[in-house]
Amino acid sequence: MHGVRRDAFNKLNKKIYYGELKVELVERCFCGDNDFRKLSKYDRFGLPFGTQICRSCGLITQTLRLTPDSLPLFYAEIYWPLIVGDYNPGFVTVPSDDQWLSYILNHISFDNSHIDIIEIGCGSGTRLAALKRELEACGMEVHATGCDYSESALSIARTKGIDIVLGGLEEVTAVGVADVVILSHVFEHLPDLNSATRELSKITNCDSIIYIEVPGVIDLENKREYLYNYQLYSVLAHTFNFSLQSLAMVMESSGFALVEGDEFVRCIFKKIGEEQKKPVSNVNVYHETIRAIERAYVKQDSLAGKRDRPIVKYARNLAKALLGRSCN
Ligand SMILES: [Zn+2]
Repeated sequence: MHGVRRDAFNKLNKKIYYGELKVELVERCFCGDNDFRKLSKYDRFGLPFGTQICRSCGLITQTLRLTPDSLPLFYAEIYWPLIVGDYNPGFVTVPSDDQWLSYILNHISFDNSHIDIIEIGCGSGTRLAALKRELEACGMEVHATGCDYSESALSIARTKGIDIVLGGLEEVTAVGVADVVILSHVFEHLPDLNSATRELSKITNCDSIIYIEVPGVIDLENKREYLYNYQLYSVLAHTFNFSLQSLAMVMESSGFALVEGDEFVRCIFKKIGEEQKKPVSNVNVYHETIRAIERAYVKQDSLAGKRDRPIVKYARNLAKALLGRSCN
């Protein structure tokens, strides 16, 4: 680690040491149980933010996490330079394709001519702007609002015709109910799921579509960006590792029903009435999740084997030299 990333790493440690960023131990799962199996001791940067899986429901949570009141400072100053290694990082978790867009469009009712969209953690507004463009092309009037903890990211979003709110879910509730709410690579960063779903409830009604995308842990064996490696996948910012079912368990016990979803994870939820709210279900994805991590481990191992072959190494270095960029 060097340069911008090293600076952010040092700044993070300093802020934790001086108490500007606070951390807390996670002793209980969202389901209420505390029977955990440790999965990792450290995150990808070697920071002591390990992970543990609940034997009762299969939800993976951190052993240690940043407290909710530390998030604004963490995301404003540390997150992007640490993750991307750049002070001008673009402020967007780049979607690998535009499947997210069709996922949302498939569920939108085109009966109304006006639509309100809110994106939580909108970064520089790339996704919001794309969805806005798409809907406007269908003749709809679109009001798009995005919130984020990073002022630099929001200043870019504003130039794309997006109303901006500095902050998170709590701050954006003032905007009111939206037809579409997007949380893309955000839900797994939230430390308090009860508070998050409570706030989410304030900006949705039973017709609203909630699109959630997270890096699904059961799909790790297909995630080349992490080299199928659970250790690389684990990062201090990820308070939870969700599978489709563990995410649905959290949402359903908070008054939201799964409409469509896959293990990638991309999914659509809708709010259900208070009377339909379910207690925490006894679905347990513990074994399924452990097996998925083991499968990813086998794939990672075989990839590491291939990468170590001298001829492959030689070809890769040659490619790097010719292209003048890193190809990992
Ligand atoms: Zn649990």
